Amino acid sequence: MTPKELTDKLVNPTPQDIALVTKAYTFAENAHKDHKRNSGEPYFTHLFETAKTLAELGMSATTVSAGLLHDTIEDVDVTPETIEKEFGKDILFIVDGVTKLGHVRYRGTDRHNESLRKLFVAMSQDIRVLIVKLADRLHNMRTLSHVPKEKQERIARETMEVYAPIAYRLGIRKLHRELEDLCFPYIEPEAYKETEATLKKKRKEMEEKLEKFLKNLKKTLGTSGVTNIKTDYRVKGLYSLYRKLKRKKEIQNIYDILALRVMVPTVDDCYRVLGIIHSTWRPLPGRIKDFIAFPKPNGYRSLHTTVFTGDGNIVEIQIKTEEMQREAEYGIASHLGYKAKTTQRGLPLPGLDWIKRLIYREPAPENNTQKEDATRDVPSWIRDLVDYQKNEKDPEEEWDDQIKSDFFSHRIFVFSPEGDVIDLPIDSTPIDFAYAIHSEIGEHVSGARINGKMISLDTRLQNGDIVEIVTKKNAKPSSKWLDYAKTASARRKIRATLQNQNNRHK
Ligand code: MN
Repeated sequence: MTPKELTDKLVNPTPQDIALVTKAYTFAENAHKDHKRNSGEPYFTHLFETAKTLAELGMSATTVSAGLLHDTIEDVDVTPETIEKEFGKDILFIVDGVTKLGHVRYRGTDRHNESLRKLFVAMSQDIRVLIVKLADRLHNMRTLSHVPKEKQERIARETMEVYAPIAYRLGIRKLHRELEDLCFPYIEPEAYKETEATLKKKRKEMEEKLEKFLKNLKKTLGTSGVTNIKTDYRVKGLYSLYRKLKRKKEIQNIYDILALRVMVPTVDDCYRVLGIIHSTWRPLPGRIKDFIAFPKPNGYRSLHTTVFTGDGNIVEIQIKTEEMQREAEYGIASHLGYKAKTTQRGLPLPGLDWIKRLIYREPAPENNTQKEDATRDVPSWIRDLVDYQKNEKDPEEEWDDQIKSDFFSHRIFVFSPEGDVIDLPIDSTPIDFAYAIHSEIGEHVSGARINGKMISLDTRLQNGDIVEIVTKKNAKPSSKWLDYAKTASARRKIRATLQNQNNRHK
């Protein structure tokens, strides 16, 4: 590990960028010098690896430095003042955000996962915080085998249900794929083994066929005058293959286990190559997809087609420009990193509203010129994404349900004064909140404060409210509460108590 290993990965770094990362490196190494990982390795390894991931994603020197420093406040008692003094407000903001996200409690029920993802986004406020957190989690997942057994499954589930979906929605496929594949053996060990064996067997057989076809393809394109191409192929992620196998049943029905990639200089070339391919090999009907004209919701662009190779095989081909390829792997990160080079003072970061829209696909507000200004520097594919409206079903991925639950999710999340997150249906009141915390608290509500102010018990809670319940020993449910309570469980409990009271009075 050396600072140079990190600075070499920065995109067009200035001398200041290199100095900053080097300084953060030395600072973090020193701050964590007595600190070890579960594996027995120096703790600094974790910081170095996190920063390396960020640099590989093309993130700026600021974000890479924040990656090096992300555990200093939490783990080794460096004060926020010191971070600010040594590294500035921006880095402090990111480190602080990552620290706060570390405090969000994962409850592990389906019902909570969606709100947890939203909460994550809301709490991040700056997309860089989210990306540092993802890089942090990636290294934690890579080293999960050193964590005590009883914790492994919980961490893997949390990663699968919260972190991987966020990476996907930010279009950072590289992280998404690796996070999922790292979780897979901990969550479904049997299925993992099976899928791995299936892929291993199939892969060999397919690689040979692919090589042969690739030769033919290059020759054909060359004859048509297309010579400036790069080709490679990608192997489908194990977990993604598993998901698809569950749906398609037979591996013979899955054509994109290995997909051939053809990279050309321009969009025009993409369509030209597609034309040449289709006039040479017969395409499978229904599998031609133009994600250039119609990008996927997370910004993915490419032309996909699947052809009969003529010798009994079927191959999926993806045609794209190199820029599209970079975006496909790094998603929003690729834009943040490269964009940073074009602005004088830091990066025109998208605001929270914008990130929320990106993640939950809320439509952009209409006629709001101020908002428009704020998103002017946002890459066009992201702007498209913001304008994206449902109905665009993506047959390749099983995200429809996720998208729907985003779109039609009618829940809010509120906090207890201790920072616990409770998610409730929209229009819930302090009564629902109290019962959600504990029936005992529900039973004895006498009043409530929202954000420090006393309010009446029929007040509807808003996203992000901090709710404090005042209880009294002799307070008890009244029939009016049935009008206030929105959740079935609170209503059930209130009814039960009222019934008991009545019975006693008889
Ligand atoms: Mn960490």
